[in-house]
Amino acid sequence: ALVVHHRMKSSGKWAQAQSILKDFEEKCGTPISKLKQVADAMNVEMHAGLASEGGSKLKMIISYVDNLPTGDEKGLFYALDLGGTNFRVLRVHLGGKEHRVVKQEFEEVSIPPHLMTGSSDALFDYIAEALAKFVATESEGLHFSPERQRELGFTFSFPVRQTSISSGTLIKWTKGFSIEDAVNSSNLYSYFAVGQDVVGELTKAMERIGLDMRVTALVNDTIGTLAGGRYNNPDVVAAVILGTGTNAAYVERAHAIPKWHGLLPKSGDMVINMEWGNFRSSHLPISEYDEALDIESLNPGEQIFEKLISGMYLGEVVRRVLYKMADEAAFFGDTIPEKLKIPFILRHGKMRKTFLTPHMSAMHQDTSPDLKIVATKLKDILEISNTSLKMRKVIVELCDIVATRGARLSAAGIAGILKKIGRDTLKDGEKQKSVVSLDGGLYEHYTKFRTCMENTLTELLGEEVSENIIIEHSNDGSGIGAALLAASHSQYIGIDES
Ligand code: BGC
Ligand code: MG
Repeated sequence: ALVVHHRMKSSGKWAQAQSILKDFEEKCGTPISKLKQVADAMNVEMHAGLASEGGSKLKMIISYVDNLPTGDEKGLFYALDLGGTNFRVLRVHLGGKEHRVVKQEFEEVSIPPHLMTGSSDALFDYIAEALAKFVATESEGLHFSPERQRELGFTFSFPVRQTSISSGTLIKWTKGFSIEDAVNSSNLYSYFAVGQDVVGELTKAMERIGLDMRVTALVNDTIGTLAGGRYNNPDVVAAVILGTGTNAAYVERAHAIPKWHGLLPKSGDMVINMEWGNFRSSHLPISEYDEALDIESLNPGEQIFEKLISGMYLGEVVRRVLYKMADEAAFFGDTIPEKLKIPFILRHGKMRKTFLTPHMSAMHQDTSPDLKIVATKLKDILEISNTSLKMRKVIVELCDIVATRGARLSAAGIAGILKKIGRDTLKDGEKQKSVVSLDGGLYEHYTKFRTCMENTLTELLGEEVSENIIIEHSNDGSGIGAALLAASHSQYIGIDES
């Protein structure tokens, strides 16, 4: 009788775990009707954000990029790509239409821990020093004439209020970094303050160490990716980053931007950095787990779209549902595994070593018949052993729910952009191609995510329209894109390169 009782009890728990999962799945539902509402809402918010400053949760930032690379760019240009706890410096030798990218070199530099607690000046000095060292490796034949200053494109992957093509101030931190935590935090971002002039700090440091270089373009990573994409394909109309954070940029007609009071650019175009991570709408499928994640995040109430989609958060959503299953349905036995209790981030801004999106991706894409990788990840990351195959299957299902929602929502976002620029329908007889440049770790490494996003876009637009919509991977386009924009905004434009 005892045995029977025990079995009943545990199957009751199994049912309870199943019902937690089913509830969650329902909350995450993204039927096509809902995705169309999301795409429409995105389109509406785009209009509102373009109409006036602060008109929408979508900032729709004017990038001052009104000309995208054509291929004519010539000369030697530098780029600095700063978006994480390390940075990249690049040197690109552009040879014009005929020779294109003659040579491209880059170096990845991580920021040494002792600088993490130093002053802002020390950090920028370090970046400037790294740049100077890199400049010193320039080969003889490529040297500029002495009167010609070297020029740099600066990619900065956070929201910046641009005041010109080469200046701007930080609006806010995203992706878990917060200046309020400056005292306690040991990450790079504690050095910058909201409202600070990003280029000014770098320029002062370059002057301090005597590096004669000038920032001629300050761009978001989406803008860099768009520029890099356009250089290779003239049909590129938008760029999307699906990585730690998420965002999109696209080419708008300048006269469709009521808040733009400047001159109408010759091209008639203006590239917009949407900052779509901050999009929100009543149509978004949000569960109790997402609400709790948001409240406990470093930027509550902000970046809601990003929290449903991007790599910073997906694994954390999975962890939260697993925790509930452990707590309320004893999914992993009588006690809750200690490691499962650890959230991904501390209030003080440090990332913790815990269950993250790459682990989720590995488990989700485990093709071994007995889900060996799932078992290994559970053991290595969460210190959970002795899981049954049945349990592991449930966990894979959970990963699938979270990834599918994120992928389908990002497709809806892209559909919203295509609608805004009139590329979501077939014009009579026209076979105009529209290319969207994609980059970021989720897109690049999480195959199931990528495939689901692409299939959903086709589902949303229909087969016929989809034939003219191309998603293209822009491999590290953001760095080379910044160099290209530095070239097209060079102060020496028109001066012949020898
Ligand atoms: C930032 C954007 C950036 C995106 C992708 C977001 O968190 O707000 O500026 O483009 O991440 O890196
Ligand atoms: Mg990047």
